[in-house]
Amino acid sequence: MAPLLEVSGLKAYYGATEALHGLSFALEKGGITTLLGANGAGKTTTLRAISGLVKRDGRITFDGEAIDRAATEDIARRGVAHVPEGRGTFTGLSVEENLKIASYGRRDKSGVKRDLDLVFTYFPRLKERLHQQAGTLSGGEQQMLAISRALMLSPRLMLLDEPSFGLAPLIVQEIFHIMRRINAEAGVSMLLVEQNAALALDLADTAYVLETGTVVMSGPATQLKNDEGIRKSYLGY
Ligand code: ATP
Repeated sequence: MAPLLEVSGLKAYYGATEALHGLSFALEKGGITTLLGANGAGKTTTLRAISGLVKRDGRITFDGEAIDRAATEDIARRGVAHVPEGRGTFTGLSVEENLKIASYGRRDKSGVKRDLDLVFTYFPRLKERLHQQAGTLSGGEQQMLAISRALMLSPRLMLLDEPSFGLAPLIVQEIFHIMRRINAEAGVSMLLVEQNAALALDLADTAYVLETGTVVMSGPATQLKNDEGIRKSYLGY
């Protein structure tokens, strides 16, 4: 079976600076792949390159179609939802308005209603806080809202950048549990960037290790979890 996402020889640029130096990886349909690496290795840039948010070069195919020249909105419309670092919610708007804006442009009203119900199934707390201003939610709830906004695109792939950032361990556990359910029940594939490598390797089936803009190691998550180098560098034991 062809991979859902295939990245080949990907380069990305900030002005004249090349931040990714031709990295390649693939993500199977229904899979969860994680990108590990130290600060500055290029994890965020990889997600931004897939979404068309930075200047990039190389080949990116999604479900067999090239998206490396497509615009960000088009990539989202095809089913790639980006949950950015820092969450990207509109803090001055209510939860409800945030969810509405996320589905803006969708014409399948019954699909939108179905996705909204799905959001409330996964995150009942957001239903209770529908009229609350997003900026007044707790950090965990804001992350839930960010994931929910992505769900409102009815995505086939979610790009998740540091979903655990700044959150207490119990909330992180709750959010990762729901991410697993979204993957298993709604069939949404995931590409996960996460500082907490132990958590990422528990959730993911496949992992790639990035160093200064290239892939230096890859394999099944269970295998990398037991690798001595990975344990020392990323798991701390
Ligand atoms: P972190 O965990 O710190 O976010 P990362 O692995 O996600 O690290 P990136 O943020 O993708 O790394 O950074 C990759 C490289 O690109 C780094 O050398 C970084 O300094 C550079 N870079 C990132 N953002 C910019 C920017 N806006 N302008 C210029 N260079 C940037």
